[in-house]
Amino acid sequence: MKCGRNKEILLVALGGNALIRKGQRGSVEEQFRNLQVPISQIARLTRSYRVIITHGNGPQVGNLLLQQECSETVPKLPLEILVAQTQGQIGYMIESTLDSELMKQGISSQKPLVSLISYVVVDEHSPAFEHPTKPIGPFFSEEKALRLPYPTVKTEKGYRRVVASPAPITIVEKNEIIKLIEMGFVVICCGGGGIPVIREGRSFSGVDAVIDKDLASARLSCEVGVDIFLIATDVQGAALNYGREDEQFLRAMTVSQAEAYLRDGQFPAGSMGPKIEAAASFVRAGGKRAIITSIDAIEEAVAGRAGTEILGG
Ligand code: ADP
Ligand code: MG
Repeated sequence: MKCGRNKEILLVALGGNALIRKGQRGSVEEQFRNLQVPISQIARLTRSYRVIITHGNGPQVGNLLLQQECSETVPKLPLEILVAQTQGQIGYMIESTLDSELMKQGISSQKPLVSLISYVVVDEHSPAFEHPTKPIGPFFSEEKALRLPYPTVKTEKGYRRVVASPAPITIVEKNEIIKLIEMGFVVICCGGGGIPVIREGRSFSGVDAVIDKDLASARLSCEVGVDIFLIATDVQGAALNYGREDEQFLRAMTVSQAEAYLRDGQFPAGSMGPKIEAAASFVRAGGKRAIITSIDAIEEAVAGRAGTEILGG
């Protein structure tokens, strides 16, 4: 098998809209159709790059949580199991779409694919566990929220469960991922930011938390030695004064500019903030290129013609 060991490694982190776009119900047909857009581009990119794909799982894990609320007879599953389920379901959808695309483009025989259930280690003493910040799953009335066995937060549309979002420390399967990439596999991993685990001696156990998929993807990019770290989302890149009349799209910024804009509140937590932090941390650690771009412009961004690039300095 030709492994292309001299090819650069490209990691594409797919946002939630790669599967479900704003305003859609999110049927399986819609999700497969949406996936065509990034996956056809990624298939072409496998000619020139060794590829790792990571992905979000917000709407999918939200639906599983909602399904759990619909039955009193079936035992409820903890969050870490639901994250594992979404890694399986989304991994399958990406893999089968990519397989068909590679076949269409006549390059399937050289490209084995694999989806990996991935754990990510977090620090059990992280302050994130004392102040959970990430709202997940369905909305509840105040009355119902009071009876739930976990903390909730009041939002505009009602009460929601809130979980910790600790920083990723290391990807448990990093060595396996490196080996698979060396063998020529396209690897799909770290879905939903990975299953959060804490280390107990030599073993791991899952915890109730959600890891940001952009931060986990940056960690993986550093650990694997990725050349290009690309975050694909539903806007063309990062902007200053986002959503205002004087909005200004940024084609590039240095790490220190990015940090200054973050401090100014230009990139909010939970959306553009973690993308900028992730891209900046990768470049700060010596990574070559980090780009935030639209799901429609992945190839253009790799070619240097689209997106926001975070530069050293
Ligand atoms: P993903 O599912 O890809 O992680 P997110 O919703 O978490 O997507 O983040 C992308 C969103 O960030 C955009 O849809 C946009 O509304 C929002 N956003 C907030 N601030 C900015 C900014 N300064 N520049 C660009 N987008 C921003
Ligand atoms: Mg996000």
